Amino acid sequence: MTTEIAVWEDDPMSVPLAYTIRMPVPQMNNLPLAIEIIGNAPDPAIYSPGTAEFRYWTAAAALVRAVSYWCDLLPHTSEWEVGTTLPVRLDAGVDLNAYYSRDEDQKGLSFFHDTVNGKTVYSGESSDVICHELGHAILDIIRPDLYNAASDEIAAFHESFADISAILSGLQIQSLRETVLVETHGDLRRSSRLSRLGEQLGWAIRQVNPDKADADCLRNAANAFLYQDPTTLPISGRSSVLTSDPHSFSRVFTGAFFDALANMLALQSLTPTEADLLRVSQEIGKLLIEALHVAPATSDFCCQVAFHMLEADKLHFDGKYNTALTNAFVSRRILSTAAMAMIRPILSSRTAVAQAMVAPEHKVSTGFLQVTLSTASYGLRSKTLLVNVPDEGERLPTGPLGVVDSPSAETVARSFVDYLFLRGKVDVGRFADANFGMIRANMRGKTHRLTQTPRGLVLTRVMFE
Ligand SMILES: [Zn+2]
Repeated sequence: MTTEIAVWEDDPMSVPLAYTIRMPVPQMNNLPLAIEIIGNAPDPAIYSPGTAEFRYWTAAAALVRAVSYWCDLLPHTSEWEVGTTLPVRLDAGVDLNAYYSRDEDQKGLSFFHDTVNGKTVYSGESSDVICHELGHAILDIIRPDLYNAASDEIAAFHESFADISAILSGLQIQSLRETVLVETHGDLRRSSRLSRLGEQLGWAIRQVNPDKADADCLRNAANAFLYQDPTTLPISGRSSVLTSDPHSFSRVFTGAFFDALANMLALQSLTPTEADLLRVSQEIGKLLIEALHVAPATSDFCCQVAFHMLEADKLHFDGKYNTALTNAFVSRRILSTAAMAMIRPILSSRTAVAQAMVAPEHKVSTGFLQVTLSTASYGLRSKTLLVNVPDEGERLPTGPLGVVDSPSAETVARSFVDYLFLRGKVDVGRFADANFGMIRANMRGKTHRLTQTPRGLVLTRVMFE
């Protein structure tokens, strides 16, 4: 047995070239948060790309890297939302997808394979995709209340955190930090193998539907999307257009976060080293996690997180990154000038910041209102549907749109639920109206289902795709 394995550095179709690298055998057994890859582990060795053994060790290394990265930033008492061990299925069947689910039948992470234009693609072969799905599970530890929120923005934030997990976990590899600095000439804002996510899965999806992925990857963190109220956006569109689809809208916060990371790196040095990049990758993760402990789950969640990242910076780094963060979030319109006017007095007082950063307990029962939507256009036998929407009472009065222009709780819920039904994302089961003819019952990738309760029919999440 060797003490080393070979893995993809980030993605099997990374541009301009996919690299394999060697690393020590990842230790799955003593992680602070336990993971179990279902099935037999092949003996550790240097395997060739294209073999199941190579895929196993690429996935294992990515999982261990991402869990180790996030665990350094989480409270020691943290536990997976699904139990003491997170199950991982590296090949759960045919699909161009990957899931995180709390559902008993598919609990944990699931990856799939499919053959496109004669090439078989395994979503679990990409470190980007592995660390993305793991990111959903990590965010579910910190903020279990977000899982069932009927809000375009909160669903999009979950996707953004997952992409951020891929970026920051990737940066824990020294060779990746070195190649990214060469590729971008030290200006991280440029499109690079770091910003381009899920190249191979993006390629496969493009062969089936050219509009659904970027030309060179699934999504790119080096983008120019600006914040808009997602309830005013179209439900779908080409990948070059911002829509309210969570994966599309996620690119606003991911882009701002990526700009912030680049700004923080530029503060270290005009000619940053890989050690500088390692340091900011860990410090920005700390700011994000600290902000997530306190940000209220409102429909302008991105603004709330940005606001609290500024406070976390004041508390932990004495405001060192204030300009780097402000520049990134204001130029993306995630923070408005009105929000900045409100936060400045808080940032000038350490006591005020410390008070603002005391974490409440995030519970579904306290953070959300249950509203009743009419189901007239959804083709259900029930006339109404109950959904959880963010309680706007907790929000800052000056989000990106201000209180006056903010959508109502019902508008937020309607926008999200319209998206789910129009895109066939709800498993309606026995609640479908057979005469309606709208329900696509046999489609894969149902993210939500309906459950009968004494109070009425309730929409609940099954998984994040
Ligand atoms: Zn996702």
